[in-house]
Amino acid sequence: MYIGEIKEERQVMHEFKYKGDELFCEDVGIGGIAAAVGTPFYLYSHRTLLDHYRKIREAFSEINPLICFSMKSNSSLAVLTALVKAGSGLDVVSGGELFKALKVGCDSKKIVYASVGKTEREIENAIKAGILFFNVESLPELALIDKVSGKLGRTVDCTLRANPDVDPHTHKFITTGKAENKFGLDFKTVEETFGNSCRYPHVRLRGIHIHIGSQITEAEPFRKAIAKVGSLIAKIRKGGARIDWLNIGGGLGIIYRKEHPQSAERFAKAVIPLIRKLDVRLILEPGRFIVGNSGVLVAKVTYVKKTRSRNFVIVDAAMNDLIRPSLYDAYHEILPVIRKPVRRKMLADVVGPICETGDFLARDRKLPEFRSGELLAVMGAGAYGFTMSSNYNSRPRSAEVMVIHGRFYVVREREKYDDLVKGEAVPRELR
Ligand code: PLP
Repeated sequence: MYIGEIKEERQVMHEFKYKGDELFCEDVGIGGIAAAVGTPFYLYSHRTLLDHYRKIREAFSEINPLICFSMKSNSSLAVLTALVKAGSGLDVVSGGELFKALKVGCDSKKIVYASVGKTEREIENAIKAGILFFNVESLPELALIDKVSGKLGRTVDCTLRANPDVDPHTHKFITTGKAENKFGLDFKTVEETFGNSCRYPHVRLRGIHIHIGSQITEAEPFRKAIAKVGSLIAKIRKGGARIDWLNIGGGLGIIYRKEHPQSAERFAKAVIPLIRKLDVRLILEPGRFIVGNSGVLVAKVTYVKKTRSRNFVIVDAAMNDLIRPSLYDAYHEILPVIRKPVRRKMLADVVGPICETGDFLARDRKLPEFRSGELLAVMGAGAYGFTMSSNYNSRPRSAEVMVIHGRFYVVREREKYDDLVKGEAVPRELR
């Protein structure tokens, strides 16, 4: 049994803590940052970011995996640069992400590319860039990669994404490894494709990829999936094909509320023995685990509205800035940036100004009685925060700030109204 072999430990979550009555990011007071850059803004702790990357790297160090940070969770250049400099590779899912990965100087041999809908142009650009693998999700895609690769006079390395049909016990929108999900190939097709690989002369099939879902708090679904893939690998090898790599995707959960997710160490202890038996080089694609608790969204209270049935804390951030509560009913802790020792509590929803009932950041929360002009922090907003933001209601996207070694840096400027109309044109006929 792997459980119980290591002492139960709570993850050291992050570097957003009160000093006196003010919330700090590392050694920098958040109130001062807000005064300088305005609100709302995303705020990242460089130290927390690297700490989480190193935790996973150290936990798996005995088998030296390739860690490819999943940049869909956060693709800010500053975040990517910090991780790439620390040795991370990147998991990309679009031509745009590949562009950003190369822009921050990621070694192309540390880039893996997943996505069910890679276009011919995206495939061509990725081949020219010399990425490590395409994680292939369908046979038409494999045929297209083969064609493009032949046209360019290359042979490209691929892994096949297998759908292990396991339930990761997470939200249905972030479950990706069940048979009914659009991702990957069924095991039989994977096995047959390795057997028929001569049909794709410009492709070298090197391994298997899986990704069963996100915010998974226990090791068991991973172990189940790896065990299933183990039998598949045995069959493929029996058929005479080679398997050198296994990519087990991302999905490690974090603490948003009172979850007890496994630590990186515990996760590693649970899966390393299975990986060793398979004699493959491991790839991990963590996103949320590395960046989720490294960032918060700071907003200012515009109004407090009390109605007969409900109280609303109306803030200047909204679902266009952080969509996770509206999309997944996700929980994010709300903390006052300045806590007052004596303050009444109230039950309230924290909402934005967008014209949707679904525009909320928190619901039914016992919060300190906020007043207009006060700041609050939406915790655990580093992953799938800014990357999922939009201009809905013609709202400029917020700024991003990073604290590095005791100083803060604006790493993305707040959008201006002019940015909202960039690239638009009104034809003469309409004027
Ligand atoms: N790899 C793949 C293929 C994914 O689709 C995702 C997320 O959807 C990830 C990695 C990252 O997942 P997480 O942020 O949960 O670690």
